[in-house]
Amino acid sequence: MPKQAVEIEVKELTRERFSGRIKGAPLPVVNAIRRVAQSEVLTMAADYIIFYDNNTVLYDEYIAHRIAMIPLTSDAALEKYKRPEECVTDGSRFDEDCYATLRLVVERPGETPLSGLTEVEIIYSDSIVSEDPDVRPVSGKIPVAVISPGQRIHAEIKARLGRGREHAKWQAATVSVLTYVADIRIDWEHCDSCGDCAAVCPTGALKIVKGKLKVDSEKCNLCRQCLRACPAGAIRLSWRDNEYNLMIESSGALHAGRILYEAAKEVRSKLLTLLNTVNTLGGGTEGSRSG
Ligand code: SF4
Ligand code: SF4
Repeated sequence: MPKQAVEIEVKELTRERFSGRIKGAPLPVVNAIRRVAQSEVLTMAADYIIFYDNNTVLYDEYIAHRIAMIPLTSDAALEKYKRPEECVTDGSRFDEDCYATLRLVVERPGETPLSGLTEVEIIYSDSIVSEDPDVRPVSGKIPVAVISPGQRIHAEIKARLGRGREHAKWQAATVSVLTYVADIRIDWEHCDSCGDCAAVCPTGALKIVKGKLKVDSEKCNLCRQCLRACPAGAIRLSWRDNEYNLMIESSGALHAGRILYEAAKEVRSKLLTLLNTVNTLGGGTEGSRSG
């Protein structure tokens, strides 16, 4: 079978979102990229948080969990910091090649009220200051804690690269979806443009325009409602071979295009590792030649 060139038709590409059509790549490969975008692509996130002071009503663990879930900018960090398997710590020494240091130091003057939440102030992620300008909260508007007069938080944050499969805080893609591309055929000999299918179509893929049924396969989500509605059985619904819609939404830690690139690179690397392993068993051409 002749090799088919792989094409990517980009529909949307921003830091937050990639949406496009991938043609010519087999389903298992595109699906592997989809999964790897969520589970394997490296990003920075807080891993150790050392509290020097915290007299707020929130436990250290509660604040630590909130801080850990704040996405940190990671594009430059991928080149700067070592991979997690190269970073081992006992929690007392942190290799600078592995860990970025950030700090949360906040204090409110005054007397702590005896009760109630009347004077509570929300602390947002813009209070977190990083020693590395390349690793910082992606947004300054993420609530971290609440603090009353007379209260303070002093925490040192150690962030490192990690993968979504280890913990959701390292998940590069928060959403990663692959869908088939619909192929709708109408048997015009039996269709009388009655409109029953258009009436149930939730996406507008089927419409009656000037008394005639119009089809827009691009809008179809393959829900099959029209098949049940058509009294004439005039609709044939299937999907195109080797053509898929891929949508990746970033946590903000990496540009969505970078997530796609890193995911494809990771899949390729895993396949090469598999190929080399098979080759060392004598299963490949090189193994046969050397054997
Ligand atoms: S329901 Fe069937 S017959 Fe009616 S417009 Fe749709 S395809 Fe044609
Ligand atoms: S499968 Fe669903 S979305 Fe597609 S044309 Fe039929 S009703 Fe519309």
